Amino acid sequence: MPYDAIIIGGSFAGLSAALYLARARRRVLVVDAGSPRNRYAKASHGFFGQDGRDPLAMIAEARAQLLVYPGVVFVQAEVTTVEHSLAHFAVSWEGGSETGTRLLLATGVVDQLPELPGLRERWGVSVLHCPYCHGFEFADAQIGVLGMGPLSLHQALMLSDWGPTTLFTDDRVPLDDEARAKLKARAVTVVEGKVSGLEGDGPALSGVALRDRGLVPVSALFIGAPVTMAAPFAAFLGCAFDDTPLGPIIRVGADKQTTVAGVYAAGDAARMPHSVAFAVADGAMAGIAMHQAGLAD
Ligand SMILES: Cc1cc2nc3c(=O)[nH]c(=O)nc-3n(C[C@H](O)[C@H](O)[C@H](O)COP(=O)(O)OP(=O)(O)OC[C@H]3O[C@@H](n4cnc5c(N)ncnc54)[C@H](O)[C@@H]3O)c2cc1C
Repeated sequence: MPYDAIIIGGSFAGLSAALYLARARRRVLVVDAGSPRNRYAKASHGFFGQDGRDPLAMIAEARAQLLVYPGVVFVQAEVTTVEHSLAHFAVSWEGGSETGTRLLLATGVVDQLPELPGLRERWGVSVLHCPYCHGFEFADAQIGVLGMGPLSLHQALMLSDWGPTTLFTDDRVPLDDEARAKLKARAVTVVEGKVSGLEGDGPALSGVALRDRGLVPVSALFIGAPVTMAAPFAAFLGCAFDDTPLGPIIRVGADKQTTVAGVYAAGDAARMPHSVAFAVADGAMAGIAMHQAGLAD
């Protein structure tokens, strides 16, 4: 007998959806590969009631609470194929496969980090993507923004609310007079030229090295890296995507259904901006919508 819902991705969005479906007494299968996007960070910030907690502990606790409900099955595996027939979705992984009436893609995104010496090993500790998540921990410290495109201008202007900020253009941020005036008004220092690497007693950061200028001291470096889908299933199933400044996201309606009937998407893969709070909320909405869609079956 097919599951009422199969959820690919058992992190913040997927587990939240599963909880709502479980509480509606649906049969739910969650398949998760165990690589949440924020696994590099020791603490997750900004989520109601859990500020500063280890994100992996948050997920483990949510999963334990979910598995108390009857009708819920959790499989630790990477889904390799998804097939869509008129009657159901068939999902397979190494050593197993199952069918479900509805499918939720809660597979998240992957950060496309720039290939800069010293950057990757500091990701989530002193190289960061979101000031709301990790800016407060560097309040009043020297903060850097690595130029990755026009969005870096916005990031630098914003970060000056957390501490003295330097924008490293890396020859990738076009700055006209208006942009320079805005940066000056927010006391943001502009350092032009190619960045050659990051230095410090890793994973801490002490400075950004420039090809022609030596080291500029900073304690944290923020980047606006592009993201790509962590799993190919939305494209494979024919779901439409929307463009965002950081990359495409799966198009969903208010009920989190994609443009393919019966396929839902929640969390980072289907929204912007990204955060645990938003992913959990999207998951809850998807769970409710998937349950209520089943009333018409
Ligand atoms: C370094 C870093 C720090 C962050 N810190 C914060 C913070 O402090 N506060 C905050 O609110 N947000 C933070 N974020 C953002 C936060 O991580 C995301 O918004 C959140 O994880 C999105 O949840 P999600 O469930 O959509 O996706 P994810 O948490 O990324 O989970 C997706 C899940 O799907 C699984 N998956 C993918 N493909 C498959 C497949 N084929 N088969 C089975 N499973 C699959 C993955 O293994 C993963 O477990 C941070 C992000 C980064 C990169």
